[in-house]
Amino acid sequence: MITELPISAADIIRKQRDFFQTGKTKDVNFRIAQLKKLKQAILDNEQAIVQALKADLNKPEFETYATEIFVIKEIDYAIKNIKTWTKPKKAPVTIDFFQYSAKIYPEPLGVALIIGAWNYPFNLVISPLIGAIAAGNCTIIKPSELAPHTSSLLAEVIAKYFDPAYIALVEGGVEISQQLLAEKFDYIFFTGGTSVGKIVMEAAAKHLTPVTLELGGKSPCIVDTEINLEHTLKRIIWGKFLNAGQTCIAPDYILVDKKIKINLVDGLKKTIKEFYGNNPATSPDYARIISQKHFDRLANLLKYGEVIIGGETIPEERYIAPTLIDNVSLDAPIMQEEIFGPILPIIEYSDITEAIAFINSRPKPLALYLFTQNKNLQTRVLQETSSGGVCINDTVMHCGLPSLPFGGVGDSGIGSYHGKASFDTFSHSKSVLQNSFLLDLKWRYAPYEGKLAFLKRLLG
Ligand code: NAD
Repeated sequence: MITELPISAADIIRKQRDFFQTGKTKDVNFRIAQLKKLKQAILDNEQAIVQALKADLNKPEFETYATEIFVIKEIDYAIKNIKTWTKPKKAPVTIDFFQYSAKIYPEPLGVALIIGAWNYPFNLVISPLIGAIAAGNCTIIKPSELAPHTSSLLAEVIAKYFDPAYIALVEGGVEISQQLLAEKFDYIFFTGGTSVGKIVMEAAAKHLTPVTLELGGKSPCIVDTEINLEHTLKRIIWGKFLNAGQTCIAPDYILVDKKIKINLVDGLKKTIKEFYGNNPATSPDYARIISQKHFDRLANLLKYGEVIIGGETIPEERYIAPTLIDNVSLDAPIMQEEIFGPILPIIEYSDITEAIAFINSRPKPLALYLFTQNKNLQTRVLQETSSGGVCINDTVMHCGLPSLPFGGVGDSGIGSYHGKASFDTFSHSKSVLQNSFLLDLKWRYAPYEGKLAFLKRLLG
């Protein structure tokens, strides 16, 4: 594990500040060229990326393309829209400002820090990097040390394609992260757990550095009776067991109407077999747990309820079978902490009011899933709960649409990104008001005598 930087964090930042000061990154054509270079870097290394993720998580090639390499679609989207995004936007002026013009100029912040998590170790640093480049910043990336193959591949690729005075990648764990966080950045974009998010925000506060915190939490999945059962089963099993459940927006637990519970459970069991066979340990389409520590944590959670399918483990492979659990206590650790693995508790409710009250008694989740065709129920859940995002009659897919900002609320995070939201995140909106010299009304200048009545009239 790297605990000492070859050159100090302060030196890397100083070089990036010097580069930023040259003004090169403010040129939109420079940004487009860098985005194209990033895309080329990914295309040139597709197979190496697949292999690194296989080594870190046994991630199936299909999933690596669908959830990691797919990030090139975001690059295309940024290239297509960047000229519109960077244009100053006219702001309307009110009648009392009739002689002025107003505009909002997006400007880069300077030097940004991106700290990534291990579950989508490639995507979670490259996707925010697209926003940082599009907005005209210099960037230092610190990927997760828990996905070492991806981290070292990223280090190699970034060093090969980019000048470190513009984009640098620093490998390492907690100590390196803390060395970086001790320095002043102009923006910090962090993806990880809620408790580390607090540490990051505390460090940022010392320098008044703004942050985006993309955190986790327990994302509920409500299943009502008015559904197409077959579609519901497939969409839940896919979203839960993708990357062996190590997805920040995986359904964490199911809240099912008790009238449909037996059908749902039977169907989920069948769907697991349909997707991964009778022995998912031999399936080429099923990932492994990232580390021994997470394997032990998850294996321990298996004891908090009745396993209705799965539950098998192979410690030396860090394999945990896709598992459904019934009869869990709401006070048990499995219902207190984010599961972040292939274990899905199923909890029944008799009335949706109960389910909503349960969700509202917990920290605000990153995602909320609702399976129902009942419009009134959809409206109720949308109005009465709060979460980073919602996906109705599906899981996970809402994070793939660039027009939808992706992020949490409350304990699940601060700020958002993807598409234009990424550009906005890494930009400052500079308000610019311009007066003309054609006339100069005296109403606001001293002496104020006789002018207050006019001002009061303006107030209406
Ligand atoms: P983590 O918080 O342990 O680590 C994230 C990063 O922070 C790593 O790069 C790590 O080196 C660094 N870090 C860890 N401890 C630190 C400390 N004390 N000081 C400074 N830096 C530190 O998270 P993780 O285990 O990599 O990821 C899992 C969590 O991330 C889950 O909660 C998951 O829900 C969340 N997540 C959120 C999103 C999202 O988009 N909202 C995406 C993926 C994962």
